[in-house]
Amino acid sequence: MPARASSTTKLLSGSSWHTPNMANHKKTHPAYRWPWPKVRARILERDLHQCQIQMAGCTQIATTVDHIVPVTQGGAWWDDANLRAACRHCNNQRIERKPTEAWKTAATHIVLVIGPPAAGKSTWVEMNARAGDLIVDYDRLAASMGGTPHTHGDQLHTVINAARNGILQTLRKGQAGCARAFIISANPDAENIFPHHQVQVIDPGQEQVKARAHAAGRPATFQRLIDDWYRARANAGTDEQQSRSW
Ligand SMILES: [Zn+2]
Repeated sequence: MPARASSTTKLLSGSSWHTPNMANHKKTHPAYRWPWPKVRARILERDLHQCQIQMAGCTQIATTVDHIVPVTQGGAWWDDANLRAACRHCNNQRIERKPTEAWKTAATHIVLVIGPPAAGKSTWVEMNARAGDLIVDYDRLAASMGGTPHTHGDQLHTVINAARNGILQTLRKGQAGCARAFIISANPDAENIFPHHQVQVIDPGQEQVKARAHAAGRPATFQRLIDDWYRARANAGTDEQQSRSW
């Protein structure tokens, strides 16, 4: 039996609401590093450098790429169908538009459970969830759909992710109807992506997590994913300014 995951709880309430800041989000999210510059160049080329949004004040000349369905609302990072060329003016208007915020005042209390892969997030949730609580766990969804647990490169990834995003959208709209929901995420930028009233960090320490992953027989790629998580957490918020123009 591995040592219990140590954890800290950060309660967010009233004036200390952490509202995802899209400008900051764009600057720091790992997905905006390589190969984003290539994707961006391809979409600008595809759309002939013409702004596809065309709001009032549009400059017509596209120098940025916009997610049609924002990533914060479950839109796909890389899907060409979710990307379009945009001028700086229109893209900034879009960034400033608030995502769905009904969850903030809805009856469901959302606990965001974050930590590196194999940290013990699912175990923590199993110990703390009560009957009737909603648990949004990629691995559970994968198992229920015939996928193999802990292999996120699974060929069922698209449908598993679609199901997860559908549930997250329902939560975002405040329509989940349950008293409490747990969202499990190994995304190092989870707090900026998912709606939440409370953050639970499950972080037993980098070396211990790697030892756990090894002992549990997780694929070798987990060692790298774990290192990536810690590196991304350490670097969060320290990225250079230039990515603002992406
Ligand atoms: Zn425009």
